[in-house]
Amino acid sequence: MSIAFIDLQAQRQALEPGLTKALQKVLDRGDFIQGQEVREFELALAQFCGADHVISCANGTDALTLVGMAEGLGVGDAVFVPAFTFVATAEAFSILGATPYFVDVDPRTFNMDTESLKAGIVDAKAKGLTPKMVVGVDLFGQPADYQSLAVVSKAENLILVADAAQGLGATLHSKSVVEYVDYTTTSFFPAKPLGCYGDGGAVLCKDAEKASLLKSLAQHGKGQQKYDNVRIGLNSRLDTLQAAVLLQKLNVFPGELKTRQDVSQRYFEALKSKVETPFVLDGAVSSWAQYTLKLDNRNAFQSTLKEKGIPTAVYYPMPLNQQTGYKNDPVVPGGVPVSDGLARQVISLPMHAYMPDKVQDFIIEEVLKAL
Ligand SMILES: *Cc1c(COP(=O)(O)O)cnc(C)c1O
Repeated sequence: MSIAFIDLQAQRQALEPGLTKALQKVLDRGDFIQGQEVREFELALAQFCGADHVISCANGTDALTLVGMAEGLGVGDAVFVPAFTFVATAEAFSILGATPYFVDVDPRTFNMDTESLKAGIVDAKAKGLTPKMVVGVDLFGQPADYQSLAVVSKAENLILVADAAQGLGATLHSKSVVEYVDYTTTSFFPAKPLGCYGDGGAVLCKDAEKASLLKSLAQHGKGQQKYDNVRIGLNSRLDTLQAAVLLQKLNVFPGELKTRQDVSQRYFEALKSKVETPFVLDGAVSSWAQYTLKLDNRNAFQSTLKEKGIPTAVYYPMPLNQQTGYKNDPVVPGGVPVSDGLARQVISLPMHAYMPDKVQDFIIEEVLKAL
């Protein structure tokens, strides 16, 4: 039995023959840049998420950078990000000259800790930085606690962003995260819950003016006339072939989210008495990008499963504030002990919507033996 960590081939088989037909259509037309599927996908995603505006772009990192550009971030501006996330959450703002400020996460949800954020805002001001933006990350698919992050952001006049690269399709109190924040960004990297066959990303927002600014920024800062670029922008586009793939995948996405929920529930029932299973915030529904355990004997556990042919992954073995490129950026007073601990303990099990019960039973059996 060969077990995939994320089974993209099984998904592809389920999407055929429609997928190949959709790609063939683009190949025959040859409008590889800004073809009609790009706009169709933006509209379909807006409808799915209840967003007023969707601006597609080249990847999830650019989506964050575009938001930073739209808000004019630069030198001296602080962007509060969790220390326990993928590097892009900080990188996107460092590249603009702004300062990522690392705050700690909640030990149960692994998402930004509001108390740590508050302490960080006070400290950033004392350090002479100007607090500008808070980026909550929907780590492993679970929405950050946007209700409490919104209270702090509002009181401090900060822009609130959801980095939903892993959390597309998740909800908080039955509402999409776009309802709670100023901007939502996402990624269509193949392994994300909604992935394409290459790179892709999008920004979702409510404000029409910001949406047209973002659109211009993603296309070299273009203005009304094609060759009069009115601002400095990026070349950041979702290409037509990827949009065609995403339109096909978005059709089955609601069903996949439900199946991911079922897979996570089976893990939960089988493992809850033996190990700390993922905690889901009251009112939150995760998109289950990952199913992640915390184990003190992680390395031994990982090699035991590997011998049985069961792939696992460690997201992330090092918090951002310890990484070489970021170790000079500010960290909340007292450091980020929860992030440090998680980096030593976390391990994710195979998780996707095409896992046969038989395969999951085998994984569970071996996990219980290896614990
Ligand atoms: C994947 C990811 C990104 C970046 O997305 P890309 O499309 O790979 O640029 C940003 N933030 C988080 C939390 C991610 O997991």
